[in-house]
Amino acid sequence: MISVEQALEQLFALVEPLESENVALTSANGRTLAKPVFAKRNQPPFAASAMDGYAIYKNDYQVGRTLQVIGESAAGARFEYKMLEGEAVRIFTGAPVPTGADWIVIQEDVDAIGRQITIRDTRESKSYIRPAGTDFEAGETLDAPQVLTPQLIALLASMNISNVNVTRKPEIAIISTGSELVMPGETPGDDQIIASNTFGLKAMLEANGANVRVLPIAHDTAPALRTAFALTYGADLILTIGGASVGDHDLVAGVTEELGMQRAFYKVAMRPGKPLMAGKLGKAAMIGLPGNPVSAMVCGQIFVLPVLRALLGLGKAPAPRQSATLANDMPPNGPRAHYMRAHVLDGVITSFERQDSALLSVLAKANALLLRPPHEDAKQAGEAVTFVPI
Ligand code: AMP
Ligand code: MG
Repeated sequence: MISVEQALEQLFALVEPLESENVALTSANGRTLAKPVFAKRNQPPFAASAMDGYAIYKNDYQVGRTLQVIGESAAGARFEYKMLEGEAVRIFTGAPVPTGADWIVIQEDVDAIGRQITIRDTRESKSYIRPAGTDFEAGETLDAPQVLTPQLIALLASMNISNVNVTRKPEIAIISTGSELVMPGETPGDDQIIASNTFGLKAMLEANGANVRVLPIAHDTAPALRTAFALTYGADLILTIGGASVGDHDLVAGVTEELGMQRAFYKVAMRPGKPLMAGKLGKAAMIGLPGNPVSAMVCGQIFVLPVLRALLGLGKAPAPRQSATLANDMPPNGPRAHYMRAHVLDGVITSFERQDSALLSVLAKANALLLRPPHEDAKQAGEAVTFVPI
């Protein structure tokens, strides 16, 4: 059995970043920016007013001073002429500051009568002018790779970028194996259960940038499994769920071998998730996940998501970890790394009593996998521990 770290290293050796494609900015949220982007203009492109008020000369910003209002500058329609001292231009938020003006007096601080204003208050110490390029300047770079967020989409739009190069979405095919499985919504027979982790994994992977193909359930026969594998054509990553142990009905190892899989490893020293298999099947990477619902979901977080990020070009790194203070005592850990279902709130983490890898109701309450390295000593409440947020 190899360690989680060794398994990850071997998984990363199976994948390289996919090529990029050009998409409209309106379709780019959540995609991975593949090439750096350069701002095409300054923002704001001109000195702009940050408030509604009057553009004036700073010399005129004196209580009791009366100024002549000679025109207006609105957003999208500037005042074209140079202003002089003693003059004011009515101005609105986002409008270009007229040439000559170097101060905005807000409208609350003047008395306006006809075409004249008198400064009533000089409480402000800053000008309310946003100089050209204060947000960003032409040529400023947005680095790649990184996942595009709504904030970055807004910034890119402002930079006048309408299309971006993003990594192609990895195609992931999921094969659920087991004669006992039926699809959600079906009426199961007495000995059947509903395929569940299949849909949890699909959701997890789609939320992280993959296109996921859920293939028909393969019953525990070699022909059914071969048919399912034939449907994985074109996938960058093939996931099987279940059938990866060594029971009489566990056929994944045999069938993949027959199909020519170059196996990287089989079995990892972790809980849950020991019967994890990986290799290369044609051009695709393949990961054989254990069938137990929680095991499959935990392996999804610890192995499949990092592989997905590697395919997206986001680097080859383990699931990000954080630390928290333990709320409860824990006995020493055994020889396998344990990813305990836990709940973390305000930096304090509590591991759940029941850790059976079949309990989806417990996983559903968890927002963290508390990490216990192999052979770790007992831990007391108050000690620091690491966890993977989920
Ligand atoms: P296996 O690895 O095939 O021995 O499966 C281990 C356990 O997980 C068995 O109880 C299976 O019924 C269950 N199982 C396998 N695949 C799934 C699935 N896709 N959804 C829910 N449970 C599953
Ligand atoms: Mg099975």
